[in-house]
Amino acid sequence: MATTDESARLFDRAKVVSPGGVNSPVRAFRAVGGVPRFMAQGAGAYLTDVDGSTYVDLVGSWGPMLLGHAHPEVVAAVRDAAGRGTSFGTPSEPEVLLAEEIVARTPVEQVRLVSSGTEATMSAVRLARAATGRDLIVKFAGCYHGHVDPLLAEAGSGVVTLGIPGTPGVPDHVAADTVVLPYHDREALTRVFDEMGDRIACLITEAAPGNMGVIAPEPGFNAFLSALCRRHGALFISDEVMTGFRVTRHGQWGLDGAVEGWMPDLLTFGKVMGGGFPAAAFGGRRDLMEMLAPVGPVYQAGTLSGNPIASTAGLTTLRLATEEVYAGLQAASTTLQGAVAEALTAAGVEHVVQSTGTMFSVFWGPDPVRDFAGAQAQQTWRYAAFFHAMLDAGVYLPPSAFEAWFLSAAHDGEALSRIIEALPGAARAAAAA
Ligand code: PMP
Repeated sequence: MATTDESARLFDRAKVVSPGGVNSPVRAFRAVGGVPRFMAQGAGAYLTDVDGSTYVDLVGSWGPMLLGHAHPEVVAAVRDAAGRGTSFGTPSEPEVLLAEEIVARTPVEQVRLVSSGTEATMSAVRLARAATGRDLIVKFAGCYHGHVDPLLAEAGSGVVTLGIPGTPGVPDHVAADTVVLPYHDREALTRVFDEMGDRIACLITEAAPGNMGVIAPEPGFNAFLSALCRRHGALFISDEVMTGFRVTRHGQWGLDGAVEGWMPDLLTFGKVMGGGFPAAAFGGRRDLMEMLAPVGPVYQAGTLSGNPIASTAGLTTLRLATEEVYAGLQAASTTLQGAVAEALTAAGVEHVVQSTGTMFSVFWGPDPVRDFAGAQAQQTWRYAAFFHAMLDAGVYLPPSAFEAWFLSAAHDGEALSRIIEALPGAARAAAAA
């Protein structure tokens, strides 16, 4: 039996110098219990912790590692870039190439690079408020857009995992400018826009929610949002931080907007486009983006924005993420979804596997989930048992029932087999919980 002694020792030390021993809350295993594993190394589909245990990784750094860990070409490009200097505080070529790649794959005409998804959504909202001269923001319960003050209301991800009430630290007058509605509720949306549409700066949504588990937008829903915003002079912000360059080569937009012929006013990106480094972006129509300084008056800046190493890692990752890579990911995802469903059914565990493109998650209950209320009705205690059985069998899942499972192009037949072999035992543990 593998020990967790080294992880436990590091966790104890970490708790002295950092709140909860972590630098991002869900890493602390609060929802599932036990010792968070301190990882020492990643290679392809695998992570190895400080006690020497190796796991098939289904977290992928929460999305970025589309190609798997330490992809040789990404590592080589990063080494090469680092050798030429780590930050210049001037424009540099890699950021131009990365921006061109993003513009080529998505409906944006221009992008501004930033260092985190939080910065991207924060800046997109500021731009929307400046462009419309309005203050109100509409968001959906269960969607997470980073820890931006006005976007924390009824947020998903760690906020729901930890059951954090309200938004302590966010002034009431800030929270008062955010209207939170149930996802998929067209009636509520229509009512709110009819009542206060002339005060709404923007509606922001995850392009497909992934932070309350994965919920594919019902056909036409994003188009409905886009049209509703246009009708009322509000901007439609599609947050593709998680789905961008992940669910398809063109993100969630590749599944709806590109097919149906509409586009969001602003989009946000992160995760995959940084190749495991801190890089994110927001972008949209040129007329909107050129309201940003130095062309226009809307201020936004960053010491490390467009960092040459982060840009190189992201660019190399995107260039390697070909149609074949997405086809392989889709096949692996379909295989794994089927195997999970089969194991849970055999063990008599109520569940629904939901997906959009290559991204999926499991809901622990009998009914398909289409909004936050449905996600919160899950039997999350079953997930804790399932999670630990998988971990003991060498599979590293997200330590929360409200998160997507992330595959990479490095998850080959052997990695998938290791996961599939672990499933029946974990399903029985979930059934017994
Ligand atoms: N938007 C979405 C949809 C996300 O999933 C996340 C992170 N999980 C963010 C924004 C925030 O990104 P970051 O953690 O890089 O600040």
